[in-house]
Amino acid sequence: MDDQRNDETLSLALDHITKLLSSAADPSIPAELAGCDQLQFIHSYVVSIRDILSRFASGDFSFTITDRGVLAGSLKALQANLRHLIWQVKQVEGGDFSQRVRFLGEFSESFNSMVVQLDSALSAMKKKEEELTDLSDRLQEEVRERNNALLALEHSEAKFRYLAEHDPLTGVLNRRSFFGLAELELRRNAMENNPSSLAMLDVDHFKKFNDTYGHLEGDKALRHVAAQGKSSLRQSDIMSRFGGEEFVFLFPHADLNQGITAAERIRTVICEHPVVLDNGKEVFITASLGVVRISPNTQEEETKQLMRAISAADQALYEAKHTGRNKVVQVEMDSIEAQLDHSLETTASPGATAP
Ligand code: GH3
Ligand code: MG
Ligand code: MG
Repeated sequence: MDDQRNDETLSLALDHITKLLSSAADPSIPAELAGCDQLQFIHSYVVSIRDILSRFASGDFSFTITDRGVLAGSLKALQANLRHLIWQVKQVEGGDFSQRVRFLGEFSESFNSMVVQLDSALSAMKKKEEELTDLSDRLQEEVRERNNALLALEHSEAKFRYLAEHDPLTGVLNRRSFFGLAELELRRNAMENNPSSLAMLDVDHFKKFNDTYGHLEGDKALRHVAAQGKSSLRQSDIMSRFGGEEFVFLFPHADLNQGITAAERIRTVICEHPVVLDNGKEVFITASLGVVRISPNTQEEETKQLMRAISAADQALYEAKHTGRNKVVQVEMDSIEAQLDHSLETTASPGATAP
C-alpha cells in the first residue's frame, strides 16, 4: 500500500518537474505534495533559474543572482563574462584598443582581430591627419612668405614709381610727370571746351641767397618754396619743379583771370612766409611769375601746346624780372605767336624792314 502511495507521489512530483521544465507557464505544486520541502526547493530553484535565463535571453545582465548551486554558479559566471564583454566593447568605443576577449571562442578571435584592425586603421588615419596638418601649416607659411614678398615688392615698386615721378629735393612732380599729367588735363579741357592757365615761377635773386647763406640753406629755401606753392593749389592744379629754382604750374579749367589769381596767391604765400635757417634766422624771399592762358584746342598735340605755353609764360616771367620782380605778369599766347610769326616773316623776306 505504501509502495503504491510512494509511486504515485513520485509520479506526481516528476510530472510537476516535467511541466516546470517544458512549459513557460508557472504550474503550482499539487496539493498532495504541498508539504514536500524538497519539491518546494526544486520548484522555486527551477522557477528562479528559468527567470534568470529568460532575462538573459532578453539581453538583461544587470541584475544580481542570489541563488546558489551549480546552475546558478554557471549563470553567474556567464553573467560576469557577458558584463565584462559589454564593458570591453565600451572601452574599445572609447578608443582603448588594448582590449582582448578571452571567452566565446570564434567570437573572441574575430573580436580581437577586429580591434587590431580598427587600431591600425585609426593609427594610419591619425598619421595621415598629422601629415595633412603639417602640409597645411607649411602651405600657410609659404602663403605668408609669398604675401610678404609681394608686399615688399609692391612697396619697392611704389617707391621706385615715386622716385621716378618726383623731384628728389622738393618732393613735387618732376618735369616728365608734369608733361604726362598736364597733357591729360589739356585733352580733357579741350573736349569740354574749357581753357587752362599755365604759370612759370622763378625765385628772385636766388644766386645771392645761395652766396649769402650757402647751398644747403638754398636747398631748404627751394623745399620751402615748393611747400608754400603746394599749399595754395586746388586739388586739380599741377605743380612741378621745372629745373633749378624754377617751378611750373598748370591750372586746369581756369581762364586768364583765374590763372592770375592763382599765381598771385602763390606769389603772396611765398613772400609772406620766411625761410627759417638752421640758426633760426628768418629770411624772406620772393618769386616772380609769368602766366598764360591755353585755349581749348583739339587740333594741336598737347605737348606742342604745352611747349608754346611754357615759352610764352617764360617771356612774361622775363618781363616780371625786368620790371621789378616779386610780381605776376600775364601774356596772351596769341600776341606772342603774332610776334613770332612777324619775326619769322621778316627773317624770311630780306627786303622787308622792321617797324
Ligand atoms: P633772378 O632774380 O634774375 O632769377 O636771379 P637769380 O639769382 O635767381 O638767377 P640766376 O639764374 O642767376 O641764379 C639761379 C641760382 O639758382 C643759381 C643756382 O646756383 C641756383 N640753384 C639752382 N638749382 C639749385 C639747387 O638745387 N639748390 C640750390 N641751393 N641752388 C640752386
Ligand atoms: Mg632761374
Ligand atoms: Mg631766379
